[in-house]
Amino acid sequence: MTETIPQRMKAARLHAFGDIRIDEVDVPKPEPGYALCRVRSCGICGTDAHIYNGAFPGVWPPYFPFTQGHEVAAEVVAVAEGVDRVKPGDRVVADDHRPCLTCRMCRTGRYVLCETAGQLKPGGHRLCGHDVDGGFAEYLTCPAHVLHKIPDNLSFDEAVIVNTATTALNAINRARIMPGDTVVVVGPGLMGLCALQLALTSGSPRVLVLGRGDRLKVAKELGATETIDITAEDPLERVRELTDGRGPDTVIECAGNPEAMKVAVACVRRGGRVALTGVNGNQEVPLVTDKIVLDELDIYGVRSHPNTWEAAIALVAAGKLDTKRMVTHTFPLERFVEGMETFVQRKEGAIRVVINP
Ligand SMILES: [Zn+2]
Ligand SMILES: [Zn+2]
Repeated sequence: MTETIPQRMKAARLHAFGDIRIDEVDVPKPEPGYALCRVRSCGICGTDAHIYNGAFPGVWPPYFPFTQGHEVAAEVVAVAEGVDRVKPGDRVVADDHRPCLTCRMCRTGRYVLCETAGQLKPGGHRLCGHDVDGGFAEYLTCPAHVLHKIPDNLSFDEAVIVNTATTALNAINRARIMPGDTVVVVGPGLMGLCALQLALTSGSPRVLVLGRGDRLKVAKELGATETIDITAEDPLERVRELTDGRGPDTVIECAGNPEAMKVAVACVRRGGRVALTGVNGNQEVPLVTDKIVLDELDIYGVRSHPNTWEAAIALVAAGKLDTKRMVTHTFPLERFVEGMETFVQRKEGAIRVVINP
């Protein structure tokens, strides 16, 4: 039900790194082309924890006080002039990239690489919850073109998973996973768990997951054929053993540390494909480039989720990803800090922690 729109709202705002306060602020007014959304669910992801702790000073966020949150599932409550893509009452998820739509990258469909990103120009690219206020608030305005409708059978909490699923799907597409491929997923975080399930859906009969801790058990529950605990065995040797000495056809790296990058490239078969989705803060990673040249490896960088939203929504709504297993905790906005701690410390097996503003 669409509720009357109040003048004021609650927002969890970062006043300094590590200092979140629940403030009362004005409900934003949608400018032309924008929709006003009542945020129902917003996920806390690894990037949020990094921003919260000050990993990107001056960039993410560019100002204080700042409202984080980019994994938004919401209900449209009002639209400004020029909007016919959505209407009040629509249930939506929001692409966090708000591209300029006019630069060369945008015009070739690669809008997450928008040339105006980070420049904060009027009309230029913004990244929701990173350099413009995001979804840890009761209301949020979004350009209508970033909103994607979700079906009624998908709850707002479950729909939060779509954001990560879109990026995992981009990795699957970039690495061209074929039916029959043996796939290795490095890193059983939410991205890795989504990549695992999407690889299975894409026709991989065999997905090996590398990592550590309890999340390997979750990977097994979600269909991993084998899991490899990197703290207990040599991942390279074990992968080779399990693939007749050949290595997998495709590797999806979802851990973001230099060691994971090395293992991903080292373990793939001759002529294999590697998709790297993690970032590690500009650290150098020693790679044996002869293997890339002599084995003709295809290595792909994977950033966010250009044009994968409709497909990811359809896959999530069809139950191809076990959203209930991955959304482990929900907290009201007032308990944001508790939610952040639960996520960062992986309390009670936390995978995705969702805030309900
Ligand atoms: Zn995220
Ligand atoms: Zn652009």
